[in-house]
Amino acid sequence: MLTVNPRLLSPELRPICDKVQAGERISDEDGLILYASRDINGIGSIANIIRERLNGNVATFIHNRYINYSNVCLLSCQFCAFGAKKREPHAFELAIPEIVETVRGALKLGITEIHMVGGLHPTLKGAWYLDLLRSLRALDAALTIKAFTAVEIRHLAERVFKLSIRETLALLRENGLGAITGGGAEIFDAEIRDKICRGKESAEEWAEVHRTWHQMGGHSTCTMLYGHIEEAHHRVDHLRRLREIQDETGGFTGFIPFAFEPDGARPSLRDIPHATAFEELRNLAISRIYLDNFPHITAYWISLGLPLAQLALNYGVDDLHGTITEEKIFHMAGAKTPQEQTVAAMEKAIREAGRVPMQRNTIYERIASTTPADSRPVAA
Ligand code: SF4
Repeated sequence: MLTVNPRLLSPELRPICDKVQAGERISDEDGLILYASRDINGIGSIANIIRERLNGNVATFIHNRYINYSNVCLLSCQFCAFGAKKREPHAFELAIPEIVETVRGALKLGITEIHMVGGLHPTLKGAWYLDLLRSLRALDAALTIKAFTAVEIRHLAERVFKLSIRETLALLRENGLGAITGGGAEIFDAEIRDKICRGKESAEEWAEVHRTWHQMGGHSTCTMLYGHIEEAHHRVDHLRRLREIQDETGGFTGFIPFAFEPDGARPSLRDIPHATAFEELRNLAISRIYLDNFPHITAYWISLGLPLAQLALNYGVDDLHGTITEEKIFHMAGAKTPQEQTVAAMEKAIREAGRVPMQRNTIYERIASTTPADSRPVAA
């Protein structure tokens, strides 16, 4: 088992390290101490105790493809550069045949998952969503359709299908939904939510969707949008709520925090500087330490960039998310990272960091590579 010499840690970290080495859970006060500490390597080494206890030396990634079916949205979250009103020039809506052709092409490259989210569309009918799911499932029964954030599920339940959350999830699953996405959690604190995403579902409503999905036997990921107007105690509160849901349901597979992108935000948020690399690494490592009941912590390279995500593999992270192809939400907000990664680039980044690359499926199970042999480099 990986151990850490306490003399190499800043004094404030030593009691926390003792707890982690003894397999004990850390408290909210410990979380705040971690967020106040500048000993980034000390925090990273504590995080790696849990990372290696749970996942050994393996680091995973998924071969997937993003689809945004439309960005037309009833809401106007203050941080969001993706959502649009129908009349706005950047509004778009994809037709089902167009989506199907895109996914058909991606399947030839070996993807195992479609990751599909959109805005809260004011006029799309229930039949359209069900037809979309059925059309994608018909392409390949083994393809996992991971789709819709909690707020989209609520929108579909309340405005489109006029069913309960549970009935809506059951209907979507009957038509092909395999997993729901973790987006829309933002920061759970109500006052902060009101300033960054007024009108969006509450923390309790977000949790209700995931809890219900888990009770139905489903899995999901969860997220945190940080680096805007929240403070450390808001992040700890966010992590505590996730840890509590996980204690109850065990349905979360991975946690994916990402930093706020200021460039595309409303003027009230635009002057906030982007989180630094130090902050991003520290936040990932603290997440690994605090969320002791989460099997996986994912570094979202779309937000971090692959070089920093690679570094995070030694700060508690054991997963690099996916190949993605055509990310829109962060790039419309100003992200300067690439929009896709090849399997070879993911594997190289993991190997360079001293970890063992493994492809995974949607629920983070390790699987054999699905990249066609003629698409694989001779030496990845
Ligand atoms: S974050 Fe989602 S719900 Fe909010 S405006 Fe953007 S697309 Fe709409």
